[in-house]
Amino acid sequence: MSNLELAPSEDVCGGRLAVAERPVEEFLYGREVVLGTRGMVVTRTLPNRDRRMVGAWCFIDHYGPEDTAMRVPPHPHTGLQTVSWLVDGEILHRDSLGSLQPVRPGQLNLMTAGRAIAHSEESPAGRAPTLHGVQLWVALPEPDRDVAAHFEHHPDLPVVSHTGVSVTVIMGSLDGVGSPAQSYSPLIGAQVALDAGAVTDLPLRPDFEHAALVLFGQVDVAGSRLDPGPLLYLGSGRSDLRLAAGPPSRLLLVGGAPFDEQIVMWWNFVGRSHEEIVRFREEWMSGRRFGEVKGYAGDPLPAPPMPTTPLKPRGRVPRTETGVD
Ligand code: MN
Repeated sequence: MSNLELAPSEDVCGGRLAVAERPVEEFLYGREVVLGTRGMVVTRTLPNRDRRMVGAWCFIDHYGPEDTAMRVPPHPHTGLQTVSWLVDGEILHRDSLGSLQPVRPGQLNLMTAGRAIAHSEESPAGRAPTLHGVQLWVALPEPDRDVAAHFEHHPDLPVVSHTGVSVTVIMGSLDGVGSPAQSYSPLIGAQVALDAGAVTDLPLRPDFEHAALVLFGQVDVAGSRLDPGPLLYLGSGRSDLRLAAGPPSRLLLVGGAPFDEQIVMWWNFVGRSHEEIVRFREEWMSGRRFGEVKGYAGDPLPAPPMPTTPLKPRGRVPRTETGVD
């Protein structure tokens, strides 16, 4: 998945001030972003005006369920991992390392961009009618952000089941059960599938901040009714999380240790300064650094122009959560 906006803004994210150091329930409403010329619409809840990151998670797009084809031409990434997770359908991934890998529901495609990678994503020929999924990005911390690019496909992730509830650990670990996927900072990404009326208490790390997204159905999350759409930011300081499903439901939980560094995000790049982003953009546009994606029927995606306004960190934390209330 690519950020295909025509005029993406440059976002400064991360840092301790953005973290609620206690449990909160904040609904973060996304904005609808049209991907590509075929008009596939995604709901982007991270980065959000009010909360830029949740742990190292810095980008969440939710799309479908919809009868649509994905077609995202080759584009670059730096300084992040992309996490592709499907509820329905199939997506074919190609990258400049030569990977060619379909991903299906219950499987993880994890691409670590590190220093540089390019990839494409498309619906395969003869696709199923319904496409439904999420794409998330994880920011890499400074010591690892220039790591050599690599790609992982995990078809069998650990699943913890209780009555009416099954939890797939996508990234990190939950309740002592760890995903085989490589992560670079303490975090959790999990899918919780709930039967109608199922109730569970998920064990959480109180030093993590967390957020929840309902993929379908309706779930009461720590007393807040959550429908598909907004991301529910939960703050930190929780040792468990009560989930209670209405109809059969699917929920995505993300969380992690607060990401101490400030990052700069623009288009498909994560860097540390405006100047670095400018350099990444120039290298992509001149065919350097990122390599070539072979086999995609179409041209690579050109980078949009950089915004002309100077980069400025933005205030984003309600005053009552900065400790000054
Ligand atoms: Mn991408």
